[in-house]
Amino acid sequence: MDTLIIGGGLSGLTVAHKLQQLCPGHQLLILEKSARTGGAIASHAENGFMVENGPHGFLDNCSESQELLQETGLDQERLTAPLSRFVRYVCIKGSLLCIPQSPAKIIMAPLISPLEKLRVLGELFKKPLPGEPTVAQWVEHRFGPALLPYVDAVFTGTYAGDLNRLVMDGVMPGVRRLEKTHGSVIRGLLAKMKEARKSGKGKIKELPAMTSFPGGMVRLADRLAESLQAGQNLLTGSSVSAIRRNESGWEVEAGGEKHTANNLVMALSINESLALLRSIAPTPPPQQNVPEARILTVALGFGAGSSLPPGFGYLAPEQEGRFCLGALFSSNMFSGRAPQGHILLEALVGGRRHPERLDLDDATLIRQTLDDLRALLPLKGEPVFARVLRSNWGIPQLEAGYPALLNWRDQLMEEQPGLFIHGFGWEGIGINDMIKSATRVAESIRDNAGASREEAKVKGVYF
Ligand SMILES: Cc1cc2nc3c(=O)[nH]c(=O)nc-3n(C[C@H](O)[C@H](O)[C@H](O)COP(=O)(O)OP(=O)(O)OC[C@H]3O[C@@H](n4cnc5c(N)ncnc54)[C@H](O)[C@@H]3O)c2cc1C
Repeated sequence: MDTLIIGGGLSGLTVAHKLQQLCPGHQLLILEKSARTGGAIASHAENGFMVENGPHGFLDNCSESQELLQETGLDQERLTAPLSRFVRYVCIKGSLLCIPQSPAKIIMAPLISPLEKLRVLGELFKKPLPGEPTVAQWVEHRFGPALLPYVDAVFTGTYAGDLNRLVMDGVMPGVRRLEKTHGSVIRGLLAKMKEARKSGKGKIKELPAMTSFPGGMVRLADRLAESLQAGQNLLTGSSVSAIRRNESGWEVEAGGEKHTANNLVMALSINESLALLRSIAPTPPPQQNVPEARILTVALGFGAGSSLPPGFGYLAPEQEGRFCLGALFSSNMFSGRAPQGHILLEALVGGRRHPERLDLDDATLIRQTLDDLRALLPLKGEPVFARVLRSNWGIPQLEAGYPALLNWRDQLMEEQPGLFIHGFGWEGIGINDMIKSATRVAESIRDNAGASREEAKVKGVYF
């Protein structure tokens, strides 16, 4: 083999696809523990309703993902929900507040008081916080406490995380870099805009669109797996138990069999990688595990009489004390998610701050979710469809010590030629992050170059 890939989730499948594109004839093999590919991606169709038990979609603002869609023909199948047309809400003081999507409209909106807006501008005069501040410490220091509920909603929506634990250097390294280079985030952003205008790239970009497929997100993984030959370059039910270096490259043990290759790609979620890497690392990782946040989905379908406000859905900051982290108005976003004349909501429960709720039985979860949602939305009568979906996947939380762990990984890849470590939680947690780093891994293998980390960039924040 030229390349062994451990893990047949989105990351592993994307590396395989890109290698097939970039290096025809490249001999590769994916070893996947479970009986199916796709990892955390899991779509569930039942009684005319289509629910996601993993990712719901991804934004179309990442060039690597767009290229992947074109290469696979999925660009012809995709469904899009533009952020400019689908507003989102944050639950504040028990009611849903509409969040405009453009920065200018956000500044004008009465989300915070004029005095609090002045405090936000005070950011220009705040010194960069040393060390590894949490998101909450950093936001409060730079912009004041008024923004905290909104920032909480953003990190609840992306990480199901706790802004008092997630660290800025982990979740927004690009913003942190801007702050340190320019002394202020606002000043840094203004400088970037000026630079972009000078170079002629200063056009205001349209807001991105959320993307999925008629059969749900599982279509992305299935399409990528189509070009693999079972038994030849994909082995499912093959759990890797050990990795080691030999004189010619890498040796991997899975289900009593040994496989060898020049390159070894670990396309696993961060804790699964750490479990295998310990045996080959000259120094132990600075932390044994990263915490994970688990969520479950309570999907509810209603018939005539119930309606949803326009938009994607809402998020509830912790201070609201609600049962659900938020809910997606799924039938608003993509067509075909509910039978004609019906609506579908997907409420999210649990997360970093409420793991105890994951242990509740289905009937209790449905009842408590309904009580919570009915206080916010005009849902009449009983649901015609109610299903609890429990994902086995946890979302890696980039908390204290994460930057050191990333440095440890980089050092290990530098010392071990032919080793590429990426996947869920390494350099991000989203679909676009995974496709981006998988593309970089395949390009490095093609170029016979070592593994590398992408320079930290400022990413847009969308609710
Ligand atoms: C509930 C949930 C909701 C999400 N929502 C969104 C969203 O809306 N938008 C978004 O952009 N992202 C979202 N994400 C994140 C997104 O799902 C991930 O970025 C992506 O699926 C990770 O893919 P991966 O291949 O890196 O990892 P995984 O999906 O974890 O795949 C790793 C694969 O490796 C296999 N494996 C593990 N150990 C071994 C072993 N020892 N040997 C062989 N195989 C092994 C696993 O079975 C798995 O198939 C969500 C994630 C979760 C859990």
